Amino acid sequence: MDENYRFSYFSSSLKTTVGVGPEQEIGKSRLDIAANAEDREFWQPHVDNLLRRETFRNFTYPYRHKDGRTRWFSISGQPVFDEDGAFKGYRGVGADITTEHEAREQLAAALEELRAANVKLETQNMLFESAIDNISQGLCMFDGDRQLMVCNRRYAELYGLPRELVQPGTPLQMILAHRVSTGRYSGPDPQAFLENRMNMVASVVRTETIDELKDGRVYLIAHAQLPDGGSVAIHDDITARKRAEERIAHMARHDALTGLPNRLLLRDKMEEALARGEDGDEFAVLCLDLDNFKAVNDSLGHPAGDSLLQAVTRRLQVCVRETDTISRLGGDEFAILQPGPNAPERAATLARRIIEVLGAAFTIEGQQVVVGASIGIALAPHDGAEPDQLLKNADLALYRAKDDGRRTYRFFETQMDINQQSRRALEMDLRQALITGEFELFYQPIVSFASGRISGLEALIRWRHPVRGLLAPGEFVSLCEEIGLIVPIGDWVLRTACLQAAQLSEDIRIAVNLSPVQFKNPGLVSSVLQALYRARLDPGRLELEITESVLLLESEDTLAALHQLRDQGVRISMDDFGTGYSSLSYLRRFPFDRIKIDRSFIADLEKKSDCLAIIRAVSSLGKDLGIDTTAEGVETETQLKVLMMEGLTEVQGFLFSPPLPFDEIRELLAKAEKTVFAA
Ligand code: C2E
Ligand code: MG
Ligand code: MG
Repeated sequence: MDENYRFSYFSSSLKTTVGVGPEQEIGKSRLDIAANAEDREFWQPHVDNLLRRETFRNFTYPYRHKDGRTRWFSISGQPVFDEDGAFKGYRGVGADITTEHEAREQLAAALEELRAANVKLETQNMLFESAIDNISQGLCMFDGDRQLMVCNRRYAELYGLPRELVQPGTPLQMILAHRVSTGRYSGPDPQAFLENRMNMVASVVRTETIDELKDGRVYLIAHAQLPDGGSVAIHDDITARKRAEERIAHMARHDALTGLPNRLLLRDKMEEALARGEDGDEFAVLCLDLDNFKAVNDSLGHPAGDSLLQAVTRRLQVCVRETDTISRLGGDEFAILQPGPNAPERAATLARRIIEVLGAAFTIEGQQVVVGASIGIALAPHDGAEPDQLLKNADLALYRAKDDGRRTYRFFETQMDINQQSRRALEMDLRQALITGEFELFYQPIVSFASGRISGLEALIRWRHPVRGLLAPGEFVSLCEEIGLIVPIGDWVLRTACLQAAQLSEDIRIAVNLSPVQFKNPGLVSSVLQALYRARLDPGRLELEITESVLLLESEDTLAALHQLRDQGVRISMDDFGTGYSSLSYLRRFPFDRIKIDRSFIADLEKKSDCLAIIRAVSSLGKDLGIDTTAEGVETETQLKVLMMEGLTEVQGFLFSPPLPFDEIRELLAKAEKTVFAA
């Protein structure tokens, strides 16, 4: 039913059950099809249930069948809410129980008759026997001494009772003992089961019990006491109905692809944990996001993406304890609820473990795929007293983890919430900045070992914010990428850099950084060519710097764009080499003109011997492949000497000059005409 309690969906079995197809019933409400819609007293409790959005079970009502007869229906259902908790209607199952209903009524009438006539039950007549053998439920009556008075065929069937145990006078104890010995009892302890049932028959006035038997079957037992001290019970096998209900309940609260709990179920579990937390217990919520999922999905296709998510789920399951709950929130987002003491330490340990485990390559459809994960952690009750608050805060911490370089985890801090708000302000400012011309290009010289002179400039964007002053790219570029603004800004950088380069000496090369997001835009190649053309700049003077993450997209389009640019004479260099994934393989995928070794290797050059080993390897690889090599971030003379000895082609860094505004760089170039940097 939809949110207005109108039928919106039926399974195909509707036609066989009620004789009409879904098309005739959809849009109607239940009262439209009931045979007793005018009976307000009958319907009010059910209507109240619905209005309160409660689950209902085995509600029985009369239905007017197309053949004119009244049939009885038993329905069960539960409310459905969307991710935001908005009510979306009801989902449920119904069964035609007319035969049972009529048999029950007959039985009630027969019992009434018997009682009225004060006939002893041992002498019941044929009418009664046939009446009770006709119902599809098991029926039994015991006297005040807990001895069987009568039972029907179905009762014997339900419990596999042999003929001698269904004779009048059989003690209940013997029947129960037989049930225990054949496994047809419920609960963990057979002795407790026996005692409970012996008691129930003797003393409980009226009850309905659901018995989940050891073999998986589910029986509904309605038990009532008789005035003379005996008791009567109806046993109904509701296994099928129960399974259908369970399946529906499961579907509503689990993710179909991975079988993991979904956001709804996670929220419930968090509520429970928060309620327990009133005794001082804490717990952690970890939000996890795959670093590279979209690229896999885009390049290998959705079925591969699905198998990857399933593989990720399996790895996650190995990391957690039984008491932890893993949930898939959607897309490549997962959350883990981790109860227990020492929440901060345990959450950090789990996060490290997950990052390590998910960092290893996956084999999907025969291909090696590397994704990696970032994790944000919120601690309850400290970081929030509501599930949504905790999830939001864990999410903010996740953003931070991603900003801090991915494949890492961060705990939530109050500052992040404030940051989130200032981010929104920044986003609005950014959109304005392009229009009001607040961006500038700074240039940093690149010096060649061969000539000892400046051979090129790297254009580095700056934002002259009216309030916050001059901002470096680290403060806004990733936000530009997220909101897609990097495409027009990137175009502006290309145009400006080409125009300014055209004003400089012809032996000065100009390097421009490109974001991976710009490669998703099919207009990239023509943007570059137009910028060159408008500035009348020789394509050989333009160098485009890309990072490995561009090739990670592994798309044919990206490679084609790079080749087109290179065919026009533009040079392509790999920036920040060594910080990414499996670097060497990318060098095979595209013929780069230059490798720029990331400045972290240069900074640690003197401290860590492996940095030197890597620099040496890249330098000799560059020589063998005919690729130039540039060291970034050179700050000291010692570094410079080592790099020269290792045979790098060029260097760039504060040792020579920081990035400078265009006018200052012109002056520097004029002076440098005469200067040879002494190595
Ligand atoms: P990058 O391409 O690796 O640029 C080099 C960065 O290292 C620059 O930071 C530069 O100021 C800094 N640097 C240079 N020499 C030294 C040194 O000796 N020591 C230290 N510690 N740092 C040095 P900046 O300007 O903040 O740029 C950061 C990153 O932002 C760049 O890294 C680049 O990836 C990106 N970026 C800059 N401009 C643009 C742009 O126009 N478009 C795009 N998409 N990205 C840009
Ligand atoms: Mg660069
Ligand atoms: Mg770099």
